Amino acid sequence: MSSPRPEPPLALLAELTHRCPLRCPYCSNPVDLARASAELGTAEWKRVLAEAATLGVLQVHFSGGEPLVRADLDELVAEAARLGLYSNLITSAVLAEPGRMQALASAGLDHVQISVQDADPASADRIGGLKDAHRRKLLVAAQVREAGLALTLNAPVHRQNLDRLEAIIDLAVELGAHRLEVAHVQYYGWALANRAALMPSRSQLDRATEIVTAARVRLKGVLAIDYVVPDYYAARPKACMGGWGRQFLVVNPLGEVLPCHAAPSIPGLVFENVRDRPLAAIWADSPAFEAYRGTAWMAEPCRTCDRREIDWGGCRCQAMALVGNAGATDPACARSPDHAAMVSLASEEATREADDFVYRQIGGLKPA
Ligand code: SF4
Ligand code: SF4
Repeated sequence: MSSPRPEPPLALLAELTHRCPLRCPYCSNPVDLARASAELGTAEWKRVLAEAATLGVLQVHFSGGEPLVRADLDELVAEAARLGLYSNLITSAVLAEPGRMQALASAGLDHVQISVQDADPASADRIGGLKDAHRRKLLVAAQVREAGLALTLNAPVHRQNLDRLEAIIDLAVELGAHRLEVAHVQYYGWALANRAALMPSRSQLDRATEIVTAARVRLKGVLAIDYVVPDYYAARPKACMGGWGRQFLVVNPLGEVLPCHAAPSIPGLVFENVRDRPLAAIWADSPAFEAYRGTAWMAEPCRTCDRREIDWGGCRCQAMALVGNAGATDPACARSPDHAAMVSLASEEATREADDFVYRQIGGLKPA
């Protein structure tokens, strides 16, 4: 039932740093943020890139935190290009000075993904926790297009911005983006702490789905729109990361190799480090990757389900967060005994009048 030798991963998510000028309350970084002094150095990252290319990785996503805070970003982009890796910069964009995107394009960068917090500047700046951030992002988006780079806009959506989804789509068109990701917030880490302030209502979700469906028709050939419904209102789970240890690996700022950026939320998993062992060996048999790879770990109802090699049992981190057992069926699945409780929790939180955020910060969770 499980594959004895994993196929090579398609993509590496290189989390260069957890430092970021923004403080988004749904940030996918762990609550316990890594400090700059603990980050992998330039030579270490270059070795990771070379090992990834040898392993068969085709794409590298330079991520964070904010990768633009790293002084060696251009050097790492050039190294990825030299190794034949397709490179994508995932950025909040606010730190890019004029000419920065052209310099990265010259270094060999292929694609830029800019996150936007809202279409309304005041709301966007409030959500991201940084004044003037939205205006600066728009300037950088123009830089990306002028540099001839492909641009994706990533819009994490939730109760406090979903009513402006049409304006977010219009913004993506105005900025000349090729693709828009309408990404419902995933509730781990910081987002889990802010769930009651972020959870959309069912009617908001239904309206958003109508808007995306109509925009996809209207903007065919102009803007591609990726859209995934939030897990809390789904009937079947997503194949999280394309299945645990099947397509992606994450190297975090400390050099730990993770099957998923949220995997440290699962107690008991030990993550091997690129400082201690080659990436290929970690991918092949690291206990953290083996823990939920394939189907052998599954219990019922997944074990005998005909979708077990389609969604791979959903998300282990969500099962941990909501059921307290990372080996349980993702409660996003209607076949899970915990599904009804998840749906009623979502409905209850969506109607709470709790709009204040706990902002992301070094030092972990503290009230805003
Ligand atoms: S989600 Fe926000 S705070 Fe987190 S890395 Fe991205 S821009 Fe920075
Ligand atoms: S029971 Fe498991 S494998 Fe089947 S649909 Fe649900 S999560 Fe997927």
